[in-house]
Amino acid sequence: MKEAVADELAAAYDSRIVDEVRATDFRYQSGRLTIHLAREFGFCYGVDRAVDYAYQARRRFPGHNVFLTGEIIHNPHVNDRLRAGGIRFLSDPGEDAHAIGPGDVVILPAFGVTVEEMARLSDLGCTLVDTTCGSVLNVWKNVIRYARDGFTSVIHGKVKHEETRATASQALKHPNGRFLVVLDRDEAAIVCGYIRRGGDRGAFLDRFRGAVSPGFEPDRDLERIGCANQTTMLMSESLEIGEMFSAAMKDRYGAERLGEHFRAFDTICTATQERQDAVVALLDECRLDLMLVVGGYNSSNTCNLARMCADRVRTYHIAEPECLVSTGEIRHRPIGAPSTTVGREEVTSEWFAAAGPVAIGLTAGASTPNNIVGQVIRRVGELVNRQ
Ligand code: SF4
Repeated sequence: MKEAVADELAAAYDSRIVDEVRATDFRYQSGRLTIHLAREFGFCYGVDRAVDYAYQARRRFPGHNVFLTGEIIHNPHVNDRLRAGGIRFLSDPGEDAHAIGPGDVVILPAFGVTVEEMARLSDLGCTLVDTTCGSVLNVWKNVIRYARDGFTSVIHGKVKHEETRATASQALKHPNGRFLVVLDRDEAAIVCGYIRRGGDRGAFLDRFRGAVSPGFEPDRDLERIGCANQTTMLMSESLEIGEMFSAAMKDRYGAERLGEHFRAFDTICTATQERQDAVVALLDECRLDLMLVVGGYNSSNTCNLARMCADRVRTYHIAEPECLVSTGEIRHRPIGAPSTTVGREEVTSEWFAAAGPVAIGLTAGASTPNNIVGQVIRRVGELVNRQ
């Protein structure tokens, strides 16, 4: 079946111009424009596999209702193509998840679903096509181990992100399992303060409402913690947060007893790490006037790539080639905007120098297919040559 959909996938998501740019040392030149493409970008192995499985499922079950629980990955272009191919999204208005039954097919996304969702779908008797990425399963394995050994999972992630919700639910598979989700260094610092000195229990629970397991007791549940993370977070931040917790535990219990109170695993996936490393290399090697980061506005790893770039150079996170309205106008997601503001854009004018050479860096999140990256390259080239 894989071979049967290979041509369809290639036609939908491959890009000749991207292949050419790769073959010319990741460089595209047109008149005064140079684009430097990061050496790792776009579809990761987990997304590649999830999209492949979705296309295969459509072929394998002709005449059946084929559903996705929600977005298969955070890319509007890919999701719309799947809809156009007849796959229905349970998250779409008018769909009724309770009406699913035997004979229906439900595809689970690359970032997984919660334990409860999985149990509910299994009870319905439908056929499940599970595309949960192996790197996510690896995080789950660690979180389950923490729970079994009496450690609270402290998850660096976005509390509303599907992957983090699914990972947190794994901690509750064990009767004594607990979790706490921290978004960033600031939240980690609050938790570290409580670990060191204790504090106002009520204020703590208010601050982390919705981000802790039911019945969470900070004085009890922060005694032994294990770090985990959403696979698509900023690696440098996840590592720093792990070190912050390690230091807090050392201060509280002493270095010699650290192993009894603290555990950590590197659960950033390889693909996320490679894309972040490639951006650092690109920024180190090339003198860039600006950076374009392409991907869905609710794609965590794309938002993090954009944050990294924005620390070093003027950066625009765009969802699609149409965001490049003209050399005088670009639509883009504000860097650092909460990912709950899906679709919020701002418009910047005069983003592209009117004369002289311009060097643009380009990368794309793990859910962005090559055809979109290729269209962005063509679009910039056309705009410059039209001037
Ligand atoms: S970003 Fe990493 S964890 Fe997520 S689907 Fe891709 S490879 Fe898997």
